[in-house]
Amino acid sequence: MLIPQEKISEIINVSDIVDIISESVILKKSGRNYFGLCPFHSEKSPSFSVSPEKQIFHCFGCSAGGNVFSFLMRHHGLSFPEAVKMAARRYNIQVETGQVSPERQKQLALREGLFRLNNQVMEHYCGLLSNSPKADMARKYMKDRGITSETIEQFSLGFAQESWDDMVSFFRRMKLSRSLAEQSGLVLAREQKAGYYDRFRNRIIFPIVDISMQVAGFGGRVMDDAMPKYLNSPETPVYSKGRMLYGLHAAKQYCRQADCVYIVEGYFDFLSLFQNGVRNTVASLGTALTSDHVRLLKGYASRAVLVFDSDDAGINAAKRSIATFVTEGLDVRILVLPRGQDPDSFVTSFGAQEFQGVADEAMSVIDFLTETAVTKFGSSVEGRISILDEMKGHLASVEDSAARSLYVRELAQRLGIDEAAVLEKVRDTVAGLKTGRRMPADIEGGRSPSQDGGDAGLESYRRERQMLAMLLQYSDVRAEARNRCLLDYFYCERFRRIGAIVIGFEEHEGSLAADLMAVLENDGDRELVASLAMMDGGQSDKVLDKSIFLMKRIVKVRNRNENTLANQIRRAEQGGDSQLPLDLLKKRQAEIRQLHGYE
Ligand SMILES: [Zn+2]
Repeated sequence: MLIPQEKISEIINVSDIVDIISESVILKKSGRNYFGLCPFHSEKSPSFSVSPEKQIFHCFGCSAGGNVFSFLMRHHGLSFPEAVKMAARRYNIQVETGQVSPERQKQLALREGLFRLNNQVMEHYCGLLSNSPKADMARKYMKDRGITSETIEQFSLGFAQESWDDMVSFFRRMKLSRSLAEQSGLVLAREQKAGYYDRFRNRIIFPIVDISMQVAGFGGRVMDDAMPKYLNSPETPVYSKGRMLYGLHAAKQYCRQADCVYIVEGYFDFLSLFQNGVRNTVASLGTALTSDHVRLLKGYASRAVLVFDSDDAGINAAKRSIATFVTEGLDVRILVLPRGQDPDSFVTSFGAQEFQGVADEAMSVIDFLTETAVTKFGSSVEGRISILDEMKGHLASVEDSAARSLYVRELAQRLGIDEAAVLEKVRDTVAGLKTGRRMPADIEGGRSPSQDGGDAGLESYRRERQMLAMLLQYSDVRAEARNRCLLDYFYCERFRRIGAIVIGFEEHEGSLAADLMAVLENDGDRELVASLAMMDGGQSDKVLDKSIFLMKRIVKVRNRNENTLANQIRRAEQGGDSQLPLDLLKKRQAEIRQLHGYE
């Protein structure tokens, strides 16, 4: 459903963000803004602020932020159109849904039908596990694994009996249409003759519930060594393995409280931890973690701990998932359990407290990768060179440049290699990455502060950030910046990209920040804008002078840096000393020129 932009602006104008947020957060007025405890991270003193003037919210603790729609989306797990409709309903604004095509209507009806069906199937499987004489072995198995009847009930665990047509006849009794039966993924068409057979046979059944608490699909696990160990629903109109995490529906509130989520692989790892009181846990269903998974988790916690078995398969699985976390910017640590232990056996033998204890010691990504590389290559000279080769890619993908410098130093010390040499390898790789793909960094794709010479680079980053905040708040500053082509002098590509949209707004009625958010494409940008809009602009009569001073400074520093670089190149070409090799200097100059559109 496409909602027209005018409708969206109309809803922004009419709705009151304080009003809407107060329904779920206790807000107290302080000065011009309202404050309360942040619903997106756990905290004891309020750092969550709402501005009635600007119609935005921003958390000084976890930097969640956005307009009224962002809040509804994140708080209720809604899509954008759903959030718009929710706000519209509240203010009795009609959002035409007549535009829903007949095709889309059919799709929606199919989804509803499947959710309803899954619910009935779940009850069928549950009934078998609790009552059927055929489930004696399954009940004993659950008992042996230490799963309590409360847990079985809470997660509606079930049993698929050893039969090819139990589900088939269940569907027949329900007089289910052939199309719905097929699309449920629970039965499959026979190949040789007509008819269907059951997907799940002789397995413990785990209903997979999505965050809106609907049964989206099922997972089945064998009770012996049969293969495959895990079998899940196939992709259906309501189930997509790349977006589902087992247990999140039950764990989400605990993840929010702890601001941390444990990610395990198996169903029993999850159930054991949950049952033993480690409730901020989800299971990955045996599939590699996708960006969608990580984005989903980001709504509930700012830290994740990957918990893996100490075997090679576990370590390889951890390695595959790390890149996704790093790219999505979620702080992730790796917990490798002592040899021979998995999360289930560990928490069963040692308890929740001991588990939390080892989890607190979980390794950073770089520690973990270095550790496994050292084990793999040894510490001879050749070994250390191979380690550096393997690590440079990982280091280059660390988005935060300050963190990256620390890792570089740490690795250099660890390997006994000169820090500058490590740094250079990593820089080359970063340069290679930049042309290849977009970096997710706050300073995405641009020269990071450290690359531009430590504190001096950080200074320009701060100046540009402050400038963007002023552009956001004052129309005369925007006009001045337009005249001076100021954005051409920004180092940070992200600030420049957002700045270009901001100075496109001339005189503006109402909150520019809230309207700007409606056109920004990602949550990170909306959060940045919310935090900038909350910065205190100072007395508005002096703002223009202050901003012009800042603009001049930005232009001057940029010009000076480039002159210095040109001088260094000239000196290096004449055979004199320079801090960096000539080819590196030239590469930087070319990058800068390209950035300025000289080429
Ligand atoms: Zn927060």
